[in-house]
Amino acid sequence: MNHDKAALQALQKYFGYSSFRHQQETIVQQVLNKKDVLTLMPTGGGKSICYQLPAVIFDGLALVISPLIALMKDQVDSLNVNGIPAAFFNSSQNPDEQLQLSKKLRDNEIKLLYLAPERLYHSDGKLISFLKTLNVCLIAIDEAHCISHWGHDFRPEYMALASLKTDFPGVPVIALTATADNLTKKDILEKLNLHQPEIYISSFNRENITYRVSRKKDSFKQLLSFLEQRKDEAGIIYCLSRKSTEFLAANLKEYGYPAAAYHAGLDNEVKAKNQEAFLKDEIKIIVATIAFGMGINKSNVRYVVHVDLPKNIEGYYQETGRAGRDGLPSEALLLYSPADAMKLKQFAMIENNPEQSQIMLNKLNDMVRFCELQACRRQYLMNYFGEDFPSNCNSCDFCLTEFKRFDGTSIAQKALSAVVRLKESFGTNYIIDFLRGSKSEKTWASHKELKTYGIGADISKIDWVSYFNELISQGYLQPSEGAYPVLKLTDLSAGVLKGEKKVEFIEREIVEEVKPSEALAYEISLLSELKGIRRDIATNENLPPYVILSDATLLEIATYLPQNLDELRLISGFGDVKLARYGREFLLHVVNYCQINNLTSKIAQKAPKRERKANNPNKINDTATESLNLYKSGKSIAEIATNRGLSQGTIEGHLTQFIITGVLDVSLFVSEDKKQTIKEAIESYGAEKLSPLKEVLGEDFTYAEIKAVIAWMRKEGAL
Ligand code: ADP
Ligand code: ZN
Repeated sequence: MNHDKAALQALQKYFGYSSFRHQQETIVQQVLNKKDVLTLMPTGGGKSICYQLPAVIFDGLALVISPLIALMKDQVDSLNVNGIPAAFFNSSQNPDEQLQLSKKLRDNEIKLLYLAPERLYHSDGKLISFLKTLNVCLIAIDEAHCISHWGHDFRPEYMALASLKTDFPGVPVIALTATADNLTKKDILEKLNLHQPEIYISSFNRENITYRVSRKKDSFKQLLSFLEQRKDEAGIIYCLSRKSTEFLAANLKEYGYPAAAYHAGLDNEVKAKNQEAFLKDEIKIIVATIAFGMGINKSNVRYVVHVDLPKNIEGYYQETGRAGRDGLPSEALLLYSPADAMKLKQFAMIENNPEQSQIMLNKLNDMVRFCELQACRRQYLMNYFGEDFPSNCNSCDFCLTEFKRFDGTSIAQKALSAVVRLKESFGTNYIIDFLRGSKSEKTWASHKELKTYGIGADISKIDWVSYFNELISQGYLQPSEGAYPVLKLTDLSAGVLKGEKKVEFIEREIVEEVKPSEALAYEISLLSELKGIRRDIATNENLPPYVILSDATLLEIATYLPQNLDELRLISGFGDVKLARYGREFLLHVVNYCQINNLTSKIAQKAPKRERKANNPNKINDTATESLNLYKSGKSIAEIATNRGLSQGTIEGHLTQFIITGVLDVSLFVSEDKKQTIKEAIESYGAEKLSPLKEVLGEDFTYAEIKAVIAWMRKEGAL
């Protein structure tokens, strides 16, 4: 049989997707070839398809081992909505229901059976004997990291899965997880006795999540202004303490935001109620401790906010990863204060276990470094997890912001000479205290005699911390390995100390945040109508709305305005069954809306259902070219900006790129008079830094004009 074609057809028919994501296709092929497979894919990467699709294609029953009832129920509901018969064994079922299910299984009426691992090898072994009599064609083990002690949530029940390979000889096993370091990976392979497994590791980059860190000043005010623009969207707000989740949820309610708290100390009933309301979109915001999230499959979480500092990068990444499982743009915002870091340091100390304490402290330091970072945050995260990544992701606060830079050479010289004077034997905190001329006894008396002592007293401690972090990230200083890192000089340091090399720092004040491009133009009020229809259907069927159709699907409808069933079939997420069940109802509204508003179908503009590839290295060029084309067609910069949903500054930036290549003439951007003045300023002050130029030139000159002249001088070879 031609697996390729069968798989693609089934993907469209049952799931409504016309192409595979990432490595899904290869994985599905391997499973269809009866190979054992281990799949490591980030949350939202699309793991389920890897076993659900083979299960649909194979004759027989697929067993799916999953650790959480909530997750199972969600998956089973989603499959059933797509017309795929699936069920789960559950302790809440009565004997009658279980009997019925057994009959269906015997009659080959179920394609996927979900089970908790502890049920599988229940003491009397009845279930496993029964399953052995069935035509089991595939075993999928979800959250496979639970089998490892090294993983972050070891579950002893998973150990029993070791005998699956012998109980079901010849049946392919696919193990899936979103978190596994090398040790865990090795453990999974060994403990499950996988037979010559194929291993697939996807990039853990979550390209649809934008990472931002803001200095925490008045967290509630900051939160309100963040939420202000996201009133209709669902989000999770993480706090450190149980008390603050309740406090914050109550405050938000007072300000008109439907929010509920969630933490391990609440009654089970309250927890279940709040979680359910969130899943069903009845409340938009959950304010939670980290107890919330495991097993939350809600795909339309649009943002995750941390109002307190997470303890380590692993936790932060997992929590932010709960946003945007549907692939739509989503936000991760962290409110950071150094005071939080100090507080967490105390928690990190584990009594009588200096080794463990040190590991926790180092992880906390990595987290703090992430917050203080003056470079691409995504790159830092990817590197932390051992993946290479380019230095401009175009979707973190650093990459989206144009910063003012200033000459920090003399600050750098002070810092580096302090490191020299202290013989490269002290950590950042000590050096800062020394620079600031601390009177504390912690600073050695002999050090207080040195000339460098106190030369940095004019700079606050907070600023010093940032400067040191910048010096480290720019490679002028290197922390040593080990439990108590001390700062060492690098090959680059000497140049700065001798005054041969200039160092630039970034000012905290942001000049401009460039808005991300490629905003889809969609019908806003139609989208909210569609959400309303979805909510009604969901309430009727007692299912969470995202199980009916994802936000991504509704957004496509509101964008491409399909007018009939054939057009609707081209919208991602409409398989045959969903089309038949819900298609007409949605169409009716779209057609009606289009008539009233005099709109027509835009389905022809929809590219073949291919996944959009973000982080394309050519993206900047593509987007600049788009601006150029609009400019050439006679549109003004202001019009292009409105048209593309981008700021005028961004468009000007795009266009100046074409001055260098000679496509556009500089006179389009700046008058001859001004051009000469700017040119003179550049000749006296150089073009490395924009801010001093702007300062010299004054209010009458814009950054765009300065940039244009620099570009022109480059083109002329004058720079
Ligand atoms: P994971 O289990 O890895 O967290 P899921 O299997 O829940 O991810 O998939 C995440 C989302 O991506 C779901 O909404 C799913 O329907 C969607 N998805 C998966 N594969 C595809 C695909 N090939 N095309 C479009 N959407 C997909
Ligand atoms: Zn970035």
